[in-house]
Amino acid sequence: MPAEALPAALRLELDGPALAHNWAALNRLSGAAHAGAAVKADAYGVGARQAVPILHAAGCRDFFVTYTTEAADIIDLVDPGQIVLLHGPLSAGDVRWAIDKGVRPVINSPEQARRWLDAGGGVCDVMIDTGINRLGFAMADLGDPLLRRLQIDTLHSHLASAEEDVPMNALQLARWQEARGLLSHRRASLANSAGIMLGADWHGDLTRPGLALYGGVPCPALAGEIRQVVRPMAAIMQVRELLAGDAVGYNSTFIAKRPMRVGVVALGYADGYLRCWSAKGTMLSAGRPLAVLGRVSMDMTVIDLANGPDLREGDWIEIAYDLPAASAASGLSQYELLTLLGKRFAR
Ligand SMILES: *Cc1c(COP(=O)(O)O)cnc(C)c1O
Repeated sequence: MPAEALPAALRLELDGPALAHNWAALNRLSGAAHAGAAVKADAYGVGARQAVPILHAAGCRDFFVTYTTEAADIIDLVDPGQIVLLHGPLSAGDVRWAIDKGVRPVINSPEQARRWLDAGGGVCDVMIDTGINRLGFAMADLGDPLLRRLQIDTLHSHLASAEEDVPMNALQLARWQEARGLLSHRRASLANSAGIMLGADWHGDLTRPGLALYGGVPCPALAGEIRQVVRPMAAIMQVRELLAGDAVGYNSTFIAKRPMRVGVVALGYADGYLRCWSAKGTMLSAGRPLAVLGRVSMDMTVIDLANGPDLREGDWIEIAYDLPAASAASGLSQYELLTLLGKRFAR
């Protein structure tokens, strides 16, 4: 049997029960609405092929991706009719692919509507822009005869500031309700993770959580409900003994004050562990904190083994990645922390 190249020093541990728990919690908090799942960008970096079967088994039946390539990645895992393309058909090729595979696009503009209708596309979703000014039909376009020709499954809009208590949320709700009165549709959807916590008026028939599924906590109301899902793990590749005065890493930003044992960990900014973690990050071994020393390099990071005198070359350690805490420590958003996780992790 030929030897297979496997990632030897990096893996992402996905806590399947925690992911299923988070979906069930968000589904319960969605009240009469059913919760779908945003699984775009490889399920926020977690690994769509790993996450989708867990979400499906938990009861999820609506999976939102960005591109046809992302739909193709999961199309053998669920009924293709449960997959929705958020960016819509960006080209004639996208239209052909979606029709051929039975995947539903979100129609975001008159141009996309024309492309879809000209090719004989059937049931689709529609996005209405109610104030975020990204993708979607403007409120002023709702009278467009093209829109009336679409067979709409789900009528969507997207909140700009759901995690904040601002008047924008009520304004977007009112516009979405106005759109619902003007266009016939089977279901309506407005809320992302934080939007679910705004209350029943924002729920419609279907909610679209993403971040909170994967352990993100966008608003305090979700804090007690959501469990950590992702644990990045890396191996120690070498252990060294430093003398007082020895420097660590590029530009010698850490100087040992006394003799110490350090570990060289196989994780760097090329893996999404950005340089902002230099001298700030924490790794964990059996709950014991191991501080990052000096600069994070492209492929490795040095840690203090003072709290892990038993640790040896080849041992695996966990990167502290509780998302709200990691976000506060690094200045990166919880979304960035997830989607940064690189391709070199075994998932
Ligand atoms: C990404 C996305 C979501 C999920 O948002 P979260 O804040 O991650 O819950 C929902 N709806 C749309 C249209 C999105 O693009």
